[in-house]
Amino acid sequence: MGVVIVGGGHAGSQAVAELRRNGYEGTIDLVCGEASLPYERPPLSKEFLAGRLSSERLLLRPASFYDQQSVNLHLGVRISKALPSRQVVECANGRRLSYDSLVLATGSSPIRLSFEGSDLEGVHYLRTIDDACAIKSDLGNAKRVLIVGGGYIGLEVAASCRSMGLEVTVLELQDRLLSRVATPFMSEFFRELHVNRGIRVLCGMGLTRLEPAKGTRSVAKAIDTNGGVHLADLVVLGIGVRPQTGLAESAGLECNNGVLVDRNCRTSADHIWAIGDCTNFPSDLYGARVRLESVPNAMEQARVLGRNLAGIDASSQATPCFWSDHFEHKLQTVGLSRFGDEEVLRGCPARGSFCLFHFSGSTLVAADAVNSRREFLAARRLVGRQVPKGVLENPSIDLASLI
Ligand code: ADP
Repeated sequence: MGVVIVGGGHAGSQAVAELRRNGYEGTIDLVCGEASLPYERPPLSKEFLAGRLSSERLLLRPASFYDQQSVNLHLGVRISKALPSRQVVECANGRRLSYDSLVLATGSSPIRLSFEGSDLEGVHYLRTIDDACAIKSDLGNAKRVLIVGGGYIGLEVAASCRSMGLEVTVLELQDRLLSRVATPFMSEFFRELHVNRGIRVLCGMGLTRLEPAKGTRSVAKAIDTNGGVHLADLVVLGIGVRPQTGLAESAGLECNNGVLVDRNCRTSADHIWAIGDCTNFPSDLYGARVRLESVPNAMEQARVLGRNLAGIDASSQATPCFWSDHFEHKLQTVGLSRFGDEEVLRGCPARGSFCLFHFSGSTLVAADAVNSRREFLAARRLVGRQVPKGVLENPSIDLASLI
């Protein structure tokens, strides 16, 4: 008996560190569906794809860490079933693990489409290190890349491929890029940025089918929803993710766009906790339940979990944070702009450095900082507060004066 953690992403790996840091001395089993030691996911679409980072440098912690922390590491093992009434989980290989506390850190998985040609060679999704290696290997012979989906993943892959000199086209179903996470102003900034770098961006456009090169199973062209033809020898679909809730649902846990947890990361079942991308939790800041696809949130929930399981009461109230890299531009976001109804701009988008603040009434609810680290750091401390808009708009006033 002890703690069984299902999932070796940022949340699962960090939970190990937090449990030990808080003095938990019991057994820890970390069960990772992937064969790799826990690694950083964000660089997969960025530096790793562009060949600027090796796979060793992706590891979150060296193998020795798990030995030192006396963790039973199960790599390449999937949990197929949870039996909450018996406090047992069953691995796909039939092995059973008993737990005092079960932690679901199962993350999310890419939404997949089935269409004519979707099984051709050269067609990829990007979530795991294996996915990234497969794309990298195909990139070596590719000239033209088609990206389906203009969210962060799609655009980051587009930028990485373009910076390697490839021809890149992005098809986005909605009428603007980044529609899930960004306001129209930011969507337009990123559209211009990508177009100016030579990427073809087609919004309001989906994919109908893919066709192979004659006599092969390798993708050669794509037909869009307007009947347009795009030559492509590599296709990457980045059309969003879904929280992995299958195990939780089969165990009878309450789920609704993620595993429902409270501020302490407790699920609806005794002895079962959940952290990271798979969770849906109450945000006091927004007065709503939210699900975040975010490393900082995974780290924060792992911290909260570690304390609670070590008997120290803790709850999660961190402000959501995200980042995304496009060519040499860095976007850092704090908060969720969808809760805003007014925007205030500081700095100059044309010069590539600005911060867009999002307000609900007089309360700052989010900020998107492009190449503006000072503004991002200030916004992290200001979100949730009433902030004078005139001060934010005036770049000659130091934001430190508001903190
Ligand atoms: P991520 O952050 O993982 O990139 P998002 O959900 O933010 O995920 O972005 C995925 C994008 O893919 C969305 O903008 C969505 O409109 C787009 N999309 C979804 N289905 C299709 C499709 N069939 N063809 C083109 N774009 C699509």
